[in-house]
Amino acid sequence: MRKEVVVAAAAVTVGAAAVGVAVFLKHWEQQRERRLRQAKRLLRKFANDCATPVAKLWNIADDLASKMESGLSSEESILGMLVSYVAPLPTGEEKGIYYGINLRGTNFLMIRGSLGGKNLPISELQREEVAIPSTAMDGDSTKELFDLIAVELAKFISVHSEIDGKAESRERKLGFTVSFPVEEDARSSGTAIKWRSLSVNDIVGKELTNDINRALEKHGIDLRVFALANDTTGDLAGAIYYSKENVAAITLGMGTDVGYVESAEQVPKWHGQSPNSGEMIINMQWGNFSSSHLPFTEFDASLDAESSNPGSRMFEKLISGMYLGEIVRRVLLKMAQETALFGEWVPPKLATPYLLRSPDMAAMHQDTSEDFELVDEKLKEIFEINYSTQMARELVAEVCDVVAERGARLVGAGIVGIVKKLGRIANKKSVVTIEGGLYEHYRVFRNYLHNSVWEVLGNDHSDNVIIENCHGGSGAGSIFLAASQTYNAGS
Ligand code: ADP
Ligand code: MG
Repeated sequence: MRKEVVVAAAAVTVGAAAVGVAVFLKHWEQQRERRLRQAKRLLRKFANDCATPVAKLWNIADDLASKMESGLSSEESILGMLVSYVAPLPTGEEKGIYYGINLRGTNFLMIRGSLGGKNLPISELQREEVAIPSTAMDGDSTKELFDLIAVELAKFISVHSEIDGKAESRERKLGFTVSFPVEEDARSSGTAIKWRSLSVNDIVGKELTNDINRALEKHGIDLRVFALANDTTGDLAGAIYYSKENVAAITLGMGTDVGYVESAEQVPKWHGQSPNSGEMIINMQWGNFSSSHLPFTEFDASLDAESSNPGSRMFEKLISGMYLGEIVRRVLLKMAQETALFGEWVPPKLATPYLLRSPDMAAMHQDTSEDFELVDEKLKEIFEINYSTQMARELVAEVCDVVAERGARLVGAGIVGIVKKLGRIANKKSVVTIEGGLYEHYRVFRNYLHNSVWEVLGNDHSDNVIIENCHGGSGAGSIFLAASQTYNAGS
């Protein structure tokens, strides 16, 4: 009897505990589902805010085209629209060995390559990167920097002079391009600011060219620089070398920039001598473009407000490699805070600005494994999120998708805007080349970009715009500038 009572009591206790556990589990399960629904709602709202239907892309393209137009007659344009090159453009006939320097924020690239005419790719390409000590970039004096370049270039040339051969060595030419750094500290240095506004009739540009040539002479190098140009201008010169249908070159890496060919008569603000070809290269800082049609979200607003340059470079903040990962991080942080996407505790590292870089974002985005192993790996590695549910990982990949798709489609709209400004949509073939890690290495981004241009132009016109990778890779534009200057100068 007694034993039975105990057994019965025990059974009741076990039963109660089981019920308790079941209730708890049910509650937990309900809470989990509620949070998941919340997270999905947040994602849907974000995706909606980021949406770029064709009509919107057209509005953006139209807006860019008209701001380009007005920028060509105004010195005040936010797009800059600087006349960056009026020397003869390459013809594709130039042949021989050329040298180039591509000056970047923290390093410079020395390049040597052989051009064999427009039907052959650059060959015998040699590159060497040299780090620039931070002291050389500080302040206003570029003397130390140019001395360093001259010394390194002398070494680089002597290593290759045997290959160049005697006959060639007398004809060595040098092009010089500058990449505008987007990193904060480099951007705010005196030197970088000077270079940012490089234009042909600019005294600063001429002074810098003279300084470089003095350094080359001092170090016994028989090469002279004709003019400084930004790297996008160089890329465009490279593109034109291969085909006259090349109308624009875009840099799309950490930052973004555009060079395009404009006919001189379209540039009321140009008072200099008209180039023989009737054409000039305009540098458009489209990173600065802004429009009421751009799909800004709360995350873009906070990114901008907390950036070092609030209110400026708004287009760049939507499309370039420096910012894409940061936008994703901001969305994930909100999901973690409001929907416990990664558990009760918000992972502290998720609150660190710019911790997620676009290559890692691309890796997560392009993870095709069944249970998102790569996403899991990256979350651990970058944010120390040691456990994530399958659902959470899937949402992470989707956030990356929304951000990349929006950015890529906006670039597409920008391309259409340029081609429209040039009046070439309906009746002419246009090739646009793109240089930069974001375009070259982020496959899904690239696909979205191409698709958006096709979609916007539709069946009738999409064949008229061709998008290509730039020739010879980053910095190689300097070689084409060297080639065009000298050949056309009749040497
Ligand atoms: P920049 O010359 O502007 O510094 P690059 O043209 O070398 O930049 O491209 C580097 C940038 O491209 C990186 O900052 C990054 O934003 C982006 N990038 C590079 N590789 C990848 C990748 N695999 N996926 C996505 N973005 C990438
Ligand atoms: Mg680059």
